[in-house]
Amino acid sequence: KESLDQGLEKTKEGFFAKITKAIAGKSTVDEEVLDNLEEALVSADVGIETTVRIIERIEARVKQDKYVNTSELNRLLQEEIEAILVDAAEQSYKDFGIPEGKKPYVILVVGVNGVGKTTTIGKLAHNYKKAGKDVILGAADTFRAAAVDQLTIWSERVGVPIVKQAMGSDPSAVAFDTVQSAVARNADVVIIDTAGRLHNKAHLMEELSKIKRVIQKVIPHAPHEVMLVLDGSTGQNALEQARQFTAATDVSAISITKLDGTAKGGVVLAIANQFQIPVKYIGVGEKIDDLIIFDKHEFVDSLFK
Ligand code: GDP
Repeated sequence: KESLDQGLEKTKEGFFAKITKAIAGKSTVDEEVLDNLEEALVSADVGIETTVRIIERIEARVKQDKYVNTSELNRLLQEEIEAILVDAAEQSYKDFGIPEGKKPYVILVVGVNGVGKTTTIGKLAHNYKKAGKDVILGAADTFRAAAVDQLTIWSERVGVPIVKQAMGSDPSAVAFDTVQSAVARNADVVIIDTAGRLHNKAHLMEELSKIKRVIQKVIPHAPHEVMLVLDGSTGQNALEQARQFTAATDVSAISITKLDGTAKGGVVLAIANQFQIPVKYIGVGEKIDDLIIFDKHEFVDSLFK
């Protein structure tokens, strides 16, 4: 909870400074307050579409209640934000459990290079291991030597095995080896890194579906999770990446990194509103413990505290 508060500090400062300014000297919510609020939301990277939705709903409630004072505005805003955020239906991720009948639990991790994919995999592996799970990593980003090296460092840091092959080998062959090895070891969790090249949608789509097909030869309903990692500090770019990856494959969960260094945390809202895919984890630092399990109540609480 404390690290969540710290991680969101910059977003909170930016956001609230603007909201405070938006209502300065006003006792009731009028058009001008709403205009200023709109501006504050957009500049916190909530995105136009999501901002308009929030403003329209607040406007409707203000009309209904006639005189809404500005201190009530915070409460309205909190409620509207919470209504937009999406919690995953299956809650097992919150204690790093394995859903019934899904062992080994296979997580395919996608996202462009540099967003914090490897770091997120390392943090996830650490958390699963802490929860008593046997974890195995697969280095299926065979295009960058640095990606395999980084993932190897994380596997050593966490103390979990990693499956890799020579550079340039077929990513789906690595994925196949990884799940086979997981079954042989009776592992609980498999986390597979993939290449984050986005220059060609058809190619990305083809590559990810090939990886999935090959995994399914070993484990029929896997991957159980396709996790998209997005860099929260890139604001609207993260939204664009979400658009491209969700068009290329069935993304089932999102992790948002680097929320600690940015005032653009509003992007979490934009993503939830536009894609209806649950955010499961947020990254608030480079260290192994800097991964927070996303909970919408806690997130909103922390923003408004
Ligand atoms: P990848 O190319 O997507 O695998 O990215 P990496 O995992 O190598 O991360 C890129 C950089 O972002 C590294 O310097 C990480 O330490 C840093 N990073 C990753 N996650 C976070 C985070 O949540 N907060 C901060 N501040 N830095 C992060």
